[in-house]
Amino acid sequence: MKILQNVMEQVIKRNPGEPEFHQAVKEVLESLEPVADKHPEWVKAGIFDRIVEPERQIIFRVPWVDDNGRVQVNRGFRIQFNSAIGPYKGGIRLHPSVYAGIIKFLGFEQIFKNSLTGLPMGGAKGGSDFDPKGKSDAEVMRFCQSFMFELARHIGPDTDVPAGDIGTGGREIGYMYGMYKKLRNEFTGVLTGKGLSWGGSLVRTEATGYGLCYFMDEAMKSIKGKSFEGTTVVISGSGNVAIYAAAKVSQLGGTVVALSDSNGYIYDPTGIKLDTVKRIKEVERKRISEYVKYHPEAAYTEGCAGIWNIKCDIALPCATQNELDGTAAATLAENGCFAVGEGANMPCTPEAIEVFLKNGIVFGPAKAANAGGVATSGLEMSQNSMRYSWTFEEVDAKLKDIMVNIFKNASEAAKAYGYGDNLVAGANIAGFEKVAAAMYAQGIAY
Ligand code: NDP
Repeated sequence: MKILQNVMEQVIKRNPGEPEFHQAVKEVLESLEPVADKHPEWVKAGIFDRIVEPERQIIFRVPWVDDNGRVQVNRGFRIQFNSAIGPYKGGIRLHPSVYAGIIKFLGFEQIFKNSLTGLPMGGAKGGSDFDPKGKSDAEVMRFCQSFMFELARHIGPDTDVPAGDIGTGGREIGYMYGMYKKLRNEFTGVLTGKGLSWGGSLVRTEATGYGLCYFMDEAMKSIKGKSFEGTTVVISGSGNVAIYAAAKVSQLGGTVVALSDSNGYIYDPTGIKLDTVKRIKEVERKRISEYVKYHPEAAYTEGCAGIWNIKCDIALPCATQNELDGTAAATLAENGCFAVGEGANMPCTPEAIEVFLKNGIVFGPAKAANAGGVATSGLEMSQNSMRYSWTFEEVDAKLKDIMVNIFKNASEAAKAYGYGDNLVAGANIAGFEKVAAAMYAQGIAY
């Protein structure tokens, strides 16, 4: 459709040198063609033009002092993309690869993901090119405090509620929260992923990984009549999402045989021992290669891309964007893989997704499949507002309900618009329609 092509051209022109953002927008706009046909009033109101332009982009200097007394300078970002259905919400990524294009792609995806959860949350993302790896706790603390010193003036429990992402876990959220509280002199739910004794929610740590498995379980059951029971599963990454996806796969009867980090991957045909991984990654903060020291039956391979050559029934990419390409997808298909669920954001390239869809592989796109993290963050916000805490079982049950509903909504939207079992299109459409309707109702706000 000409109008959507024009929108895409404008995005490329306005955001030069940001291929990840272009990729994310292109995928969504391609799915929305029949929606634009059905809603000429949305086209006329410029919804498509407006939704690809962030409401606000904040870029700031983050100076801090390292343990040797040297001044370091990083760049901080918060991109507040869309607040049509609720306060901005989205994580903070701390990784040397962070630049505007990464934060924009993540913020854009977050709009639709948050909408899919059914909870009132707008879309945003933030981060910095700071690398927490190899830094002392004191250095991480000084960075987080400096980052929050600026960010505090742009966020608030009813304005924008950041959370964790790559490189931002419980430790970093703690340091940022401490600084926010000091600056504002108020104890509010301004961040999610907090510690349990100071406003955090049970299940938030496990939520993205668990939610991914709940979503995939429902999708596999519904589309193929299959489940995790008795399957061999390969998971990339060994961070928050990967670890708790692995835990849930085991609970559901599958065997996880591989995990990775940015240096390489481990293969343990007898099943990965998660207690060892948790100790290495969460406590000692070391490399995944350490695993073979404790389990000599496992093998370590340098370089992370080869992980997709391991024969498996189900693949769950849970590390980072564009980590699984068309060639890797073809290998997975040849090896009999029947389901792929995106735990990370946009881990599969467009070529890989095409291979999965052509081969009838059940494919859970990130927006839908990894929405459990932000959904539980939404539940954390509700508990903070009520000054009340639900039990683990209560939050877990709500998370499961939300994931099953996301599958149903994405699946129904795909079918309604002639996309069959294509959950990529279904998730884009279901997420978009709710936000578009809200933007339309609210008029063209200046
Ligand atoms: P963590 O920082 O806890 O873990 C990230 C993992 O991915 C690590 O094993 C890391 O290895 C690996 N990794 C990171 N960058 C690269 C890279 N460039 N190449 C190869 N491996 C890499 O992050 P999370 O588990 O929280 O996040 C993982 C993904 O899930 C991200 O895409 C994130 O946006 C997404 N996500 C996270 C949510 C959450 O609740 N945490 C919610 C929804 C999505 P290394 O240690 O070597 O860097």
